[in-house]
Amino acid sequence: MNAPAPNLTPSVEKSLKGKVSLVTGSTSGIGLGIARALAAAGSAVVLNGFGKPAEIAATQYELSDRFNVPVEYSGADMSDPDSIAQMMHKTLKTFGRVDILVNNAGIQHVAPLHEFPPAKWDAVLAINLSSAFHTIRLALPAMVANKWGRVINIASAHGLVASAFKSAYVAAKHGMVGLTKVVALETAELGITSNAICPGYVYTPLVEAQIEGQAKAHKIPREQVVREILLAQQPNKRFASVDELGALTVFLASDAAASITGVALPVDGGWTAH
Ligand code: NAD
Repeated sequence: MNAPAPNLTPSVEKSLKGKVSLVTGSTSGIGLGIARALAAAGSAVVLNGFGKPAEIAATQYELSDRFNVPVEYSGADMSDPDSIAQMMHKTLKTFGRVDILVNNAGIQHVAPLHEFPPAKWDAVLAINLSSAFHTIRLALPAMVANKWGRVINIASAHGLVASAFKSAYVAAKHGMVGLTKVVALETAELGITSNAICPGYVYTPLVEAQIEGQAKAHKIPREQVVREILLAQQPNKRFASVDELGALTVFLASDAAASITGVALPVDGGWTAH
C-alpha cells in the first residue's frame, strides 16, 4: 500500500506560518511584491532597502496589520559587507532563525564596455551578486541547524542570455545563477533548496516611468513603446506582475517545492526560448 500522499496543495493562506523571511531590496518593486506575498502566506518578514522613512514605516505597518505577522526593517546597504552582517545578526537575534532568504536587491547601469565606469561595475557586482554571497553565508548555519531553508535569488533573463551595454548587470546575474547552483549542491542533503528566478520584464513603477519617458522621447504611443521597445525581446508581449513573482516565491518556499533545487527558472514570456 502506498504511504499517505503528502499535502502538496497547501492553502497559500498561512502556508508559511512560523517561518521568517528576509527579502533584500523590498522597499519597492519586485522585492515588495515578494515580501507582501510571503507575509500573506503567514511568514514574518524582514524588509530591506532604501526609501523615505515615512513610506517604509507605512509599508511595515500595512503588512503587519493586514497579515498579522511581525514585520521588521533593516536599512542595510547591500554594497557593504559589514552592513549586511549587521542585518543578518540582528535578524537572527530578533527571530532566532531565518528560513527564507530572498536576494532581490539590484541596480542597473547601461553603457558600452569601453565607457563603463569602473565604480559602476564595482557597485553593480557588489549589490547584485556579492551581497547574496554574504547573506547566504550568514544565513546558512541557522538553516542547517533547523534542517530547513529556502534560498531564492532574483536573477534575471540576463542571468541566462546577454544584451549589449549591460556588461556588469549580465555578468552579475550570470554569477547569481552560478552561485545558486553551488549553494544547491552544498545543501542538497540538508533540507535546504536554492533556486534562481529569472524574470524578463516585470511591471514596476520604474518600468512605468520608462514607458512614459520613451513615449515622450520618441513621440509614439505607449502601446508601441511597450511592444516594440521594452518588450521587443519578449514573445508574449506582456509584463509579468510583482504578484506573479510573489506567488512563485511562495511556491518555491513551500514543501511542495522540496525537490526543486539548483534551477534558474525563467519567468520571461518565452524570451530565453529563442
Ligand atoms: P527597484 O529599483 O524597484 O527595487 C530595487 C530595490 O533594491 C529597492 O528596494 C531599493 O531600495 C533596493 N536597493 C538598491 N540598492 C540597494 C542597496 N545598496 N542596499 C539595499 N537595497 C538596495 O527594482 P526592481 O525592478 O523591483 O528589481 C528588483 C530585482 O529584480 C533586481 O535584482 C533586478 O535586477 C531584478 N529584475 C527586475 C526586472 C524588472 O523588469 N523590473 C527584470 C529582471 C530582474
